[in-house]
Amino acid sequence: MRHFAVIGSGPAGFYTAEALAKAYGDAAQIDIIDQLPVPYGLIRFGVAPDHQSIKAVSRRYDKVVEEAGVRFLGNVAVGAAVSIDELKSLYDGVILATGAPRDRALGIPGEELPGVVGSAAFVGWYNGHPDFADLDPPLAGASAAVIGNGNVALDVARILSKTRAEFGGSDIVAHALDALDASAIRTITIVGRRGPHQIAMTAKELGELGHLDAAVPHVESGDLPAIEADAGLDPGARKSVAHLRDFATPHDEKPKHIQFDFFARPVAIEGEGRAERLVVERTALAEGGQCVGTGETYAIPASLIVSCIGYHTPRIDGVPYDERGGKFANDGGVIGDGLYCVGWARRGPSGTIGTNRPDGYEVAEAIAAALPPGSSTGKPGGLGLSALLAERGVNATDFADWRTIETAETAAARADAPREKLVRHADWLSALGR
Ligand code: NAP
Repeated sequence: MRHFAVIGSGPAGFYTAEALAKAYGDAAQIDIIDQLPVPYGLIRFGVAPDHQSIKAVSRRYDKVVEEAGVRFLGNVAVGAAVSIDELKSLYDGVILATGAPRDRALGIPGEELPGVVGSAAFVGWYNGHPDFADLDPPLAGASAAVIGNGNVALDVARILSKTRAEFGGSDIVAHALDALDASAIRTITIVGRRGPHQIAMTAKELGELGHLDAAVPHVESGDLPAIEADAGLDPGARKSVAHLRDFATPHDEKPKHIQFDFFARPVAIEGEGRAERLVVERTALAEGGQCVGTGETYAIPASLIVSCIGYHTPRIDGVPYDERGGKFANDGGVIGDGLYCVGWARRGPSGTIGTNRPDGYEVAEAIAAALPPGSSTGKPGGLGLSALLAERGVNATDFADWRTIETAETAAARADAPREKLVRHADWLSALGR
C-alpha cells in the first residue's frame, strides 16, 4: 500500500487526489488535509457567490471522497498541528495544493492605510472565510477604487455594484449582504496600468457588467485603440474588447457608475489617517506592451481601495520557495524527496479552475513513475497521522462532519439562497456538537 497526503482541499487538491486514485486504484490510500474544518478551498472562499454554476464543480469533488475512497481531514493546519517532516515520515508522497491565498503587495506609499484591502481579504470577507469575517471594509464613502484589470477586479466591482435583489440565488454571507446593501458607494473606478488590449479580464465576466440593475459601466472612448487593431487579437480577447467598446457608448443612467480608468499606474495612497484618494501616474505603452510612466499624475477619490493584482503562496517551514514567483520552488511539480506541489502553489495564480485538472494529473503521473504502484515502504499513512493528531488533541473533521455542517448551512439559508455559510471555527464545531 502507498500512502499520499494532499495538503489543501481546493480544485488542485481534489484533481490531484482523483488522479492518484485512478493511477493506484486500491493500492494507495490518499488523505486530503485542510486547515479549515470544511472542504473546497477556492471554490467555497474564492469563486464569487453569484457564480453558483462555477461553484457546482464541488459536486464532482464529492465523488473523489464518496466513490474513489479518498479521505478528507479538516481542521488540521500543516506547519502548526503537524510539520512537513512529520508528514513525510508518515506518507510516501506529500503534495502541496495550498493555492495562493495571500495578497501581493502594491509596494506604494500609503498602502498600509485603513481602507486599503487586498482582494484575498475582500473576497474572503464576502465569501465567509473565517480569517476575514471581521474585515468590515469601509462602505460609507461615495467612491471606491479597484486596482487591476483581471477577473478578480471584475468580481469585486460587480459585488460592490449589485443590489440586494441581484444577490438572490447566491450564497453571499449575511454579514456582507447587509453591509453591501447599506453601502453608499456610487462610483467604482477600475484602474488598469495598461490599456484595453492588455486586460486579463474574460468576455463572459466583462459582459456581466453590462446587465447590472443599478450600475452602468463606462469606458473613455479615447482609451480605446483604433478598431482595426482588434483584428490582431485572439478571438477571446476580441470579444472582451468588444464589451469595452460597447461600454464607451452612452447607456441609460443608473445610480452607480463603474468607470474604467486605463493607462493609470498607482503611485501612492493618501489621506488623513485613512485612505481618501489613490494617486496614479498616466502611462503609455512601450515596445513589447510594457507600460512606462509619463510623469503626469492625478488623484482618484476613494475611501475603499481594493487591490486585485494577484496572489502568492504562503511559505511552509522547510519547503524551498521561489521568491519571484511567489510559489514553491519546483521542477514540473517536483520539489524533491517525496514532496510535490500542484495548482497555484506550483504555477502561480493563473488559469481557470479547469487548468488544475491536467496540472494535477501530470504531477500524479510523475509520482506514479517515481513510486510505482505495487511497491511499498511500509509507512503508516493516515492511520499514523490520526494517531498523532489524537495524541496532540487536534479536533480533526472528516467528510461526514462536513455533510453535517452542510446540512446546518442549508437549513439556515435565506429563502432565495442555497445556504447560509457558517463562518467561524466555533460555529462549525458547534454544528458538530463539539
Ligand atoms: P490576473 O488575471 O493576473 O490580473 C492581475 C491584474 O493586476 C493584471 O491586470 C495586472 O496588470 C494587474 N497588476 C499586477 N500588478 C500590478 C501593479 N503593481 N499595479 C497595477 N496593476 C497591477 O489576476 P486575478 O484577477 O487575481 O485572477 C487570478 C486568476 O484567477 C486569473 O487566471 C483569473 O482569470 C482567474 N479568475 C477567474 C474568474 C472567472 O473565470 N470568473 C474569476 C476570478 C479569477 P498587468 O497585466 O499590467 O500585469
